[in-house]
Amino acid sequence: MTPSDPQTESSQTNPLRDRSRVRRVPERGTHERDVIDRILDEGLVAHVGIVQDGQPFVIPMVYARDGDDLILHGSPASRLMKILASGAPCSVTVTRLDGLVLARSTFHHSMNYRSVVVLGRARVVEDEAQKLAALERLVEQIVPGRSADARGPNAKELKGTLVLRLALSESTAKVRSGPPVDEDDDRNLPCWGGVIPIEETFGAAIADDLSAGDPTPGYVTGYARP
Ligand SMILES: Cc1cc2nc3c(=O)[nH]c(=O)nc-3n(C[C@H](O)[C@H](O)[C@H](O)COP(=O)(O)OP(=O)(O)OC[C@H]3O[C@@H](n4cnc5c(N)ncnc54)[C@H](O)[C@@H]3O)c2cc1C
Repeated sequence: MTPSDPQTESSQTNPLRDRSRVRRVPERGTHERDVIDRILDEGLVAHVGIVQDGQPFVIPMVYARDGDDLILHGSPASRLMKILASGAPCSVTVTRLDGLVLARSTFHHSMNYRSVVVLGRARVVEDEAQKLAALERLVEQIVPGRSADARGPNAKELKGTLVLRLALSESTAKVRSGPPVDEDDDRNLPCWGGVIPIEETFGAAIADDLSAGDPTPGYVTGYARP
């Protein structure tokens, strides 16, 4: 690897381990934390992969990034949470879609995307104050400003919530952008080629019966992802 290779180790990149080195189209891969963090901070859903008795399961979850960790939470009774809490190896993926890429051949159709894969073993947050802080971070990543208004977890709710942290020390981003890549022989085909961009939008908020007529908070009316 050359010093300009995005997968080369530096102070801002994760240490490169062989199992997290992007092999397929490696120029789209990076271990740069800036890139990884931006994708994680924008996303809302993580797909969490675990293995039970040799059977892989990939389960969607809410998450937040807190510095160098992902925060996950759930019921202590859930299979997923039990397996994660045991320290078993897991894989977490977050994907942002930016466009549908239409090439002149169906083979070269693609998507523009930014995705992150994190490998590791989660650890349980036992300390109550740290648990509360992690849960607040979760709320704040999804709706910044909300935790100042909504009631926080009481003792029973806190006891009934398992909070986990997963270090981002082994994480990879992969990014595709730009137009389709066509074969030279296909470039003159009478077929439209290009990108259909994908943009996430949030609609006007709908108050429930209890809040009908109340002013809508600014963090709701102006809601947007970073
Ligand atoms: C929305 C979307 C749609 C896709 N559709 C397809 C498809 O239909 N067919 C297909 O073959 N591929 C598709 N890909 C690419 C796919 O995610 C893999 O990168 C690719 O299949 C190579 O997988 P691999 O395990 O052989 O990669 P390898 O390069 O062997 O993976 C090595 C390591 O690189 C990292 N890595 C691999 N892929 C990603 C990624 N996407 N994001 C972050 N880190 C990664 C992981 O740590 C992995 O362990 C898609 C990606 C996205 C985001």
